[in-house]
Amino acid sequence: MDPREQALAVQDAINASGRHYRDSIPMIASENIISPLVSRAINSDLHGRYAEGLPGKRYYQGCDDFDTIESIGIESAKRVFNCKFANIQSTSGTVSNMAALKALTKPGDTITAVSTADGGHISHHPMGAVGMRGLNLVTYPWNEERMEPDVDAACALIRQEEPELCLFGQSVILFPIPMQELADAAHEVGARVMYDGAHVLGLIAGGQFQDPLREGADVMTGSSHKTFPGPQGGFLLSDSDDEPLQKKLNNAIFPGVCSSYHLHHVAGKVVAMAEFEAFGKEYARDIVANAKSLGEALASEGFDVLAEERGFTSSHQVLTRHGAPDSGAGRKAAQILEECGIITNMNMLPGDTKAMSGPSGLRLGTPELTRVGMGVDEMKDIAKFFARALIKQEESSQVREDVTAFKSRYQKVHYSIEKGPAYPNLD
Ligand SMILES: *Cc1c(COP(=O)(O)O)cnc(C)c1O
Repeated sequence: MDPREQALAVQDAINASGRHYRDSIPMIASENIISPLVSRAINSDLHGRYAEGLPGKRYYQGCDDFDTIESIGIESAKRVFNCKFANIQSTSGTVSNMAALKALTKPGDTITAVSTADGGHISHHPMGAVGMRGLNLVTYPWNEERMEPDVDAACALIRQEEPELCLFGQSVILFPIPMQELADAAHEVGARVMYDGAHVLGLIAGGQFQDPLREGADVMTGSSHKTFPGPQGGFLLSDSDDEPLQKKLNNAIFPGVCSSYHLHHVAGKVVAMAEFEAFGKEYARDIVANAKSLGEALASEGFDVLAEERGFTSSHQVLTRHGAPDSGAGRKAAQILEECGIITNMNMLPGDTKAMSGPSGLRLGTPELTRVGMGVDEMKDIAKFFARALIKQEESSQVREDVTAFKSRYQKVHYSIEKGPAYPNLD
């Protein structure tokens, strides 16, 4: 391809992707949009700069202004997440996990975690960060009905295995888990406790989920772009005042797993934290209310929504089942929904064994819908679109037209200091 053509092809595809999301109902639980002020921070000269080290202790000249930004950000993170230590440099949730594993374990140690089949993240798996650190993974016995570790069996496992680290937190997550009991068992055998809050970080900070740092977690990691509504990035947090531990955590980020840590995104995170301090409680509350409403509405349209007896969800996620285990019915449903203008992801449910071809379920999220101003009534409208697409099997182009007309009413970013378009710079 001609160089100029290549550059233009990329620009065209970027715009097409933006229009696709603008005109659709985006329900990927890990995704979100950024506010105008965050957008300005990440489209700045900071993009090209380096600031290895910590504020006031840099290896390069030219960092004074960034020192101001990072210092404000560290103090803001301590308030937002109610903790004594915060490192805001990590470039993603996975990078935060790599750093935490580096700080808290050494190769050959044993770690306990939630299996990926039960909703654990790939970074908790030997194929991911856990394997890169050379750890021996033991997964918790799982209560499929409650979608949480089988607490008695998991405590027994921890006492028997005596791991160096007990990791909790999931990518598929409907309810808080009994953290304190599990953390007590871990501490009893001298293990450290880590909570991976990648998905639910905004709900935790907004006071709408459990509060792992108050329930025994020594370290909490997370992404800055899922329910926490900032730019792509990560956090590394602890409420411990143990200085050697804090130093280890900082060193695990740099020189451990980052050199350039994307200064423009750090600045964006600090702006996002300012907006979170202003609007985060409200935003987190509305995300969860919308997820509950979505679960109820889908069930009353006739869908099989998981965890009905527990009220469907206490997080930003809802899980639906569309066929028998390993039938691939979730994959099929996700494809039909996309044709109808609804963006979701297939998800393995209890009983499914094939991640690519077999999932029978969908994982649905409300963070972005909430961010563009939808409330509990709009969740009922969306459940009706699901029914038209998947139960009545209406012509997809017809549903899509109505979805786009519906979505055109929700085009502004909410919970932000400066108002602006949710999907900017599109023709
Ligand atoms: C999404 C996720 C991560 C990874 O976060 P990235 O920011 O995408 O690297 C880690 N842990 C859990 C539990 C997640 O769901």
